[in-house]
Amino acid sequence: MADKIHVVRKGETLTGLSRLYDVPLKELAKENDLTTSSKIKIGEKLVIPGKNSAPQIAWSLKRQLDRIPVRSRRWKNIVIHHSATPNGTLKGMDRYHREERHMQNGLAYHFVVGNGKGMKDGEIAAGERWTGQIAGGHLASESLNQVSLGICLVGNFEQAEPTSRQLESLAGLINYLISRCGLSRNAVKTHQQINTVFTRCPGRKFPVKKLMEMVS
Ligand SMILES: [Zn+2]
Repeated sequence: MADKIHVVRKGETLTGLSRLYDVPLKELAKENDLTTSSKIKIGEKLVIPGKNSAPQIAWSLKRQLDRIPVRSRRWKNIVIHHSATPNGTLKGMDRYHREERHMQNGLAYHFVVGNGKGMKDGEIAAGERWTGQIAGGHLASESLNQVSLGICLVGNFEQAEPTSRQLESLAGLINYLISRCGLSRNAVKTHQQINTVFTRCPGRKFPVKKLMEMVS
């Protein structure tokens, strides 16, 4: 796996990036042949040392997702859900949301991650709300739906943990979305953490801490 590369954005400094990635300033500077007081330019590519173990999505999927134009500051949150069913597919959930829940845009989420029952274990499927950059339908608050990407993991995490492949894929997808949408790890929330009304989603066995250790 390649080292993490950060493309410098407006207003960023070496000190700021050292804080963002939790890498000592000296180490970050040395890795990039800079001094701790060097100025960095917009568009400059920096290597982030020690961050090469963060899961990434497959190159072919990245290419597919990269084709979708994302407006700057379009999204503020990345919200994690479970399907609360032992098996499921993007198509099945889409049909359910369209026909039973009468949601005009179908699948309430932007992405679904399979668990080997219906979809492949760890398979990431992008829905039409991602390809069309449409608001989510996964939260009780309409204003939050407008700015929140939704990712649904197939499974019931009240009863069992997600599979390790599923968690790894989820972390890779989140890492991609953070960098693609100009977010920080603070944007990552479970449905329970963000919702304005109580929900158990994504279940008490969903390993939030383990996931966040894989998010850069
Ligand atoms: Zn949920």
